[in-house]
Amino acid sequence: MRDSPRIVVLAGGVGGSRFVLGVRGALRARGIRDTASALTVVVNTGDDLWLSGVRLQPDVDSVTYALAGVNDTERGWGRQGDSERVNEELQAWGAGWPWFTLGDLDLGTHIARTGWLRDGHTPTQVIERMSHRWPLGARLLPMTDAEVDTVVILHDGTRLHFQEWWTRHRATLPAARFENLGIADASPAPGVVEAVAQADAVLLAPSNPVVSIGPILAVPGVRDALRATSAPVVGVSPIIGGRVVRGMADACLAAIGVETSAAAVADLYGARGDGGLLDAWLLAEEDGALAGEVAGFGIRPVVTPLWMTDAARSAALAESALIAAGV
Ligand code: GDP
Ligand code: CA
Repeated sequence: MRDSPRIVVLAGGVGGSRFVLGVRGALRARGIRDTASALTVVVNTGDDLWLSGVRLQPDVDSVTYALAGVNDTERGWGRQGDSERVNEELQAWGAGWPWFTLGDLDLGTHIARTGWLRDGHTPTQVIERMSHRWPLGARLLPMTDAEVDTVVILHDGTRLHFQEWWTRHRATLPAARFENLGIADASPAPGVVEAVAQADAVLLAPSNPVVSIGPILAVPGVRDALRATSAPVVGVSPIIGGRVVRGMADACLAAIGVETSAAAVADLYGARGDGGLLDAWLLAEEDGALAGEVAGFGIRPVVTPLWMTDAARSAALAESALIAAGV
């Protein structure tokens, strides 16, 4: 058994949680029992919102539920076996958003969270508290304790909360740009910079580069921490064969003028040797032809299967990322 490496993963919701499960699985397969001490996940909070008086943290909840094994794997979000009685009642009152469903069990999470926030606890403290219910096998940190909800600005200047653009309009309204209000004044949540500095490997999950990883990198201090750490920084492409796998990340990439290609996303993150972030980039076998282009950016390409269709494949992908990081 090797010494337990310290791994930091930057993650969004669905792609992020599958990858984090994979990393936990890969660490376990190496005989590491106390994965919570080895694995820190910095989660995007740009998707967060206030709705019907409660605070939602969709990506934090997706990662928490997935690690706890209580997520709805078929639907892809929320709790397994949830019901929608409270949601029906909210709709009858005309409260909230008719196109945004809140499950009953999920609402329990939001109410608990909101209560603790109202009592004066920070999001970091609330997430820490919520991590005790199930043995997650990872330490979760929000990217920041500040509220920096993502706003989408359309070409005609209309501003929508990210969730309205994403969930109600399914990302079909062409976006001009994304903004995280107040992010220039935000700081990384306690522990984020330290975890990156002390890491043996930093992994960018195959999450949405624009609205999941993008906001994390936009918190002042995070990019500098990634550039300064002695740990290798390894990213995993969310694009396979020129397509997004789940979700609508292509619409987000189009808005910022980036092609939906594994090489273009690598270029967006950039090479650490050239002012960017990446030492290595995992590409799918379907995109093997792009390896030369990635190498040309100064990023080491690693061609490997990227489909996270089950726990074993996700763990194999995570193991490839760890090996690429030299741990
Ligand atoms: P969200 O916050 O729920 O949108 O989830 P994330 O931002 O964490 O992840 C969304 C991204 O995950 C999408 O851009 C997908 O392309 C990517 N993704 C989903 N499943 C897979 C997979 O099996 N393999 C890879 N490489 N990427 C995936
Ligand atoms: Ca998300």
